[in-house]
Amino acid sequence: MSHMENKRESDVILIGAGIMSATLGTILKELAPDWKMTVFEKLDKAGEESSNEWNNAGTGHAALCELNYTVEKPDGSVDISKAVQINEQFQVSRQFWSYLVSQDLIRNPQDFIMPLPHMSLVQGENNVSFLRRRFEALTKSPLFQGMEFSDDSNKLKEWIPLIMQDRAANVPIAATKIDSGTDVNFGALTRMLFDHLNNKHVDIKYKHMVSDIKRTKDGLWRLKVRNDQGQLEYHTAKFVFIGGGGGSLSLLQKTGIPESKHIGGFPVSGLFLVCNNPEIVEQHHAKVYGKAAVGAPPMSVPHLDTRYIDNKKSLLFGPFAGFSPKFLKTGSNLDLVSSVKLNNVLTMLAAGVKSVALTRYLIQQVMLSKEKRIAELREFVPNAKSEDWDIVVAGQRVQVIKDTITGGKGTLQFGTEVVSAADGSVAALLGASPGASTAVHVMLEVIRKCFPQHLKAWEPKIKEMIPSYGVSLAENPKLFHELQASTALTLGLADKSRVNVN
Ligand SMILES: Cc1cc2nc3c(=O)[nH]c(=O)nc-3n(C[C@H](O)[C@H](O)[C@H](O)COP(=O)(O)OP(=O)(O)OC[C@H]3O[C@@H](n4cnc5c(N)ncnc54)[C@H](O)[C@@H]3O)c2cc1C
Repeated sequence: MSHMENKRESDVILIGAGIMSATLGTILKELAPDWKMTVFEKLDKAGEESSNEWNNAGTGHAALCELNYTVEKPDGSVDISKAVQINEQFQVSRQFWSYLVSQDLIRNPQDFIMPLPHMSLVQGENNVSFLRRRFEALTKSPLFQGMEFSDDSNKLKEWIPLIMQDRAANVPIAATKIDSGTDVNFGALTRMLFDHLNNKHVDIKYKHMVSDIKRTKDGLWRLKVRNDQGQLEYHTAKFVFIGGGGGSLSLLQKTGIPESKHIGGFPVSGLFLVCNNPEIVEQHHAKVYGKAAVGAPPMSVPHLDTRYIDNKKSLLFGPFAGFSPKFLKTGSNLDLVSSVKLNNVLTMLAAGVKSVALTRYLIQQVMLSKEKRIAELREFVPNAKSEDWDIVVAGQRVQVIKDTITGGKGTLQFGTEVVSAADGSVAALLGASPGASTAVHVMLEVIRKCFPQHLKAWEPKIKEMIPSYGVSLAENPKLFHELQASTALTLGLADKSRVNVN
């Protein structure tokens, strides 16, 4: 594939410099070091959209605290299969990051991952009963061992003093806590990975915006790119990954591949409240996830998180979901309208009808005053004062809309989807959840779908990077515990000096 004469021809083109392209590029550099790779990013730096540390919640999603990954069945039992799946996917990321650190390809893991207890918190008798049953079901799996449950307010005061301070004692309250959770700075990680790719001579072109993708007669993909001087350039590649975040749908539509039809996008904006008052910040040390309000979408589950950003500890509360027609934070108000094409108009209309309540909810959320948001925060921090908290605008999420057998036409999806051409020459990542935490798993899926002819030869290297590749960790507790210990050591997660105990 290599030794190409023309400098505008690449083996691989990655569109977008977010965590997904960073991850795919880094994996491919290990598997096929000679391939010529080019990255186009419309902004002037890597990791400035959803992957930026201020634009997402930085939770290393391993299903240790997110209540929406476990479902209560009609008989009262709790289905933990999705939680197991997400936890295993996060273990894949941990192993890959640990490989990169151990090989000195990236350094200073404390700059992108910190140990932080993950907790779920509920109130009311029924919710407390659910949380107990959920705890019992989860702790049967080796993946969730070490999780604790408590409905004792003295214990909870020890775990979450800020949340328990001045709280009315008449409502039943309970929490689970597990110390193996993490706070991940995906922005820092993205920048580290692009620095590494730059050192490996990947051509990273910032301020280059891809505006079209077309198939050439000889089966390559030809990209029309507006460069940093405002001029048009044309570049070709055998394989293109569309990692444009919210910008991926429109680029996928431009490829014209049959797999791009009948798909739409539904944008959801987000806001956080941030507390920079050190006295308050020091009173909390965890990610504490609550339950979504009735009618709220899963991505607006409220949580109060300790964050490590810009070498400083802060507290973030939210996200408050809202409606904006933009597909990227730096996008255009026309994004939603221009994503409607002849082939997806019925899907989009059906979704419009189905999502009236959700849209109404999101519009109401956008209109909330700061005081109303502080009132929601007081559910978590009863004595929160408005002057200690500021509003920050988070990233945009574009949820996939498609026709499904179970949901029918125009069904809103809350997960991530890899859409690829039948011949594997182009792939796009759509959707936003569980997002950056599972980037390595998702990019391995891209590799499985798009490079099946190389998989056998690449497998030993993949197993070197991800020792659990192809193995269920839930069913192999010994391997799980070994990997948990070794990755904690390499990533510095076992270092007690990095764990702040209240
Ligand atoms: C509010 C919020 C909270 C979240 N919380 C979490 C969390 O706690 N944990 C977690 O794991 N995930 C979380 N996520 C999801 C996570 O942030 C995303 O899944 C992830 O960052 C997506 O990475 P990406 O590389 O696909 O996209 P992005 O980081 O958005 O990168 C896409 C890049 O492509 C560029 N681009 C777009 N179009 C073009 C074009 N035409 N030409 C050139 N460049 C282009 C953009 O400028 C951008 O830099 C959250 C997301 C949001 C919005």
